[in-house]
Amino acid sequence: MTKNQYAMQNPVTQYPDLDIPEQRQEEPGLDSKLIPLADHGEKTYRGAERLKGRKALITGADSGIGRAVAIAYAREGADIALSYLPSEQADADEVIALIEAEGCMAVAIPGDISDEAFSKQLVEEAASKLGGIDILVNNAGRQLYVEKLEDLDADQFESTFRTNVFAMFWITKAALKYLPAGASIINTTSIQSYQPSPGLIDYASTKGAITAFTHGLGKQLASRGIRVNAVAPGPIWTPLQPSYGQPMKKLTQFGKNTPVGRAGQPAELAPTYVFLASQESSYITSEVIGVTGGNHLP
Ligand code: NAD
Ligand code: MG
Repeated sequence: MTKNQYAMQNPVTQYPDLDIPEQRQEEPGLDSKLIPLADHGEKTYRGAERLKGRKALITGADSGIGRAVAIAYAREGADIALSYLPSEQADADEVIALIEAEGCMAVAIPGDISDEAFSKQLVEEAASKLGGIDILVNNAGRQLYVEKLEDLDADQFESTFRTNVFAMFWITKAALKYLPAGASIINTTSIQSYQPSPGLIDYASTKGAITAFTHGLGKQLASRGIRVNAVAPGPIWTPLQPSYGQPMKKLTQFGKNTPVGRAGQPAELAPTYVFLASQESSYITSEVIGVTGGNHLP
């Protein structure tokens, strides 16, 4: 599924109706097993040296939104350290090949960021192999749908917070000593931060925390010349959703309740992450940009 994203066209029909069939993957899912496959801009994203010579650490860079961001950053001239889970190596290999095809460095650092020691080691290894870090994209996340609060166990609640919130805290804190003035931190929050689904209580709560973390840290770091922003996606077609991120009934209708009338593709997120990383957004910090298909942020 590839579209010329630069030609003016109707966004409603820019991508064909997904017509998502019933499907399940174990968590974390793989991009290569999505039916239909998603568009990450592999064939279309055109760079313009917006991030030439920059050094980016991107978590969850193997698939979905993180993959689209990694491809775009490489085409804009950045070297990239990729974080992902070891079980996602096949997805990561595809992204690494695309980064290297741009003549950029791809540093693969698989591991579990819900572990504090690994999160710190991830930053040290990224900084040492890239020769520094000046863009940090905290994008990894987990989302497991549980209909009733009675069925949401404390282990899941804690693990969702460790992966989505604590890891962001550990990684950002460890990265700070490397980030120069001009650096940019970009967190992936969600529409769920503002309009939580009843079956995503733990997940939506982590996204609320990420939004507040972004607003506050942006103010704290502004005088040091480090900007902190977040992107709040609406429904985007990625492996997060069929790997127990949604109940089957919602999965087959995914994205249809947006004003645009369809789910978004990861490729449609990348330009926002490029903008927030680049100097073009110099006066934007502590901000959240929604990419929601019309279910706007408050
Ligand atoms: P995705 O499954 O492709 O990406 C999530 C990635 O998180 C995985 O690839 C995995 O590498 C990483 N991850 C999860 N647990 C990890 C762990 N313990 N250690 C290391 N890495 C881990 O799905 P995506 O939708 O592209 O998700 C990216 C971000 O976007 C997430 O933060 C998600 O919450 C957010 N988001 C997604 C949507 C959507 O509709 N897809 C909407 C709003 C926000
Ligand atoms: Mg993945």
